[in-house]
Amino acid sequence: MWPIIIFFLLHWYLSVFAQSFFLHRYAAHGMFRMPGFWHRFFYLFTWIAQGSSYLNPRAYAILHMEHHKHSDTENDPHSPHFFKDVVSMMVNTKNVYQSILAGAYDNRPDVNIKDYPTWPIVDKIGDSWLTRFGFMGLYTLFYIQFAPNPFWYALLPVHFLMGPIHGAFVNWCGHKYGYSNYDNGDHSKNTFVWDLFFVGECFQNNHHRYPRRANFARKWYEIDVTYPVIKAMQLLRIVRLKP
Ligand SMILES: [Zn+2]
Ligand SMILES: [Zn+2]
Repeated sequence: MWPIIIFFLLHWYLSVFAQSFFLHRYAAHGMFRMPGFWHRFFYLFTWIAQGSSYLNPRAYAILHMEHHKHSDTENDPHSPHFFKDVVSMMVNTKNVYQSILAGAYDNRPDVNIKDYPTWPIVDKIGDSWLTRFGFMGLYTLFYIQFAPNPFWYALLPVHFLMGPIHGAFVNWCGHKYGYSNYDNGDHSKNTFVWDLFFVGECFQNNHHRYPRRANFARKWYEIDVTYPVIKAMQLLRIVRLKP
């Protein structure tokens, strides 16, 4: 039982950290710089951590900046206030993401695709169905080996769809449930005071107010667990925070 629990928690936290640290704070917002080696290291880390649900960093970044530009209006790719349930919101998110991947935003005057990182060979391999099914096969083999009984296999779909599940929770709850420190003219909320499950992503209200600040916590009692990691990386010269 313990190998399964440890594997589940590792996959959950590595995947959500990759999303928050690399895709969101670095690729989309450029809150810090990374020298070439670490840039590539964390690009690969994001692919391995997200595995079967890998998201292309550039497409994620463009999609996310559309969310900031149009937060909780009808042009927001994933406002919970324009969809009847979380599934229809995520289907629309996926459709917009796919259209960005297909190049629909490449020539838009308000989008400079060169602002966002890309590594074509990793993106091509990570986005192929062969690779995605390969990761699913590895997760399944782990469960076959270590699950005490087949009921545990019910967790496998969470592994397969880890990235979208994190996105669904953050996008839905982060603009619907919780408290506000600021009036941002949208419905962004801070869902938790200590965001221990989504490593800071649920501080949507604080983040929409200060979209370029690497620390999503604003009040003394709020904890954004990714920020101390970024500060430690700065001491180790892995990242350079922008002033
Ligand atoms: Zn938001
Ligand atoms: Zn953001």
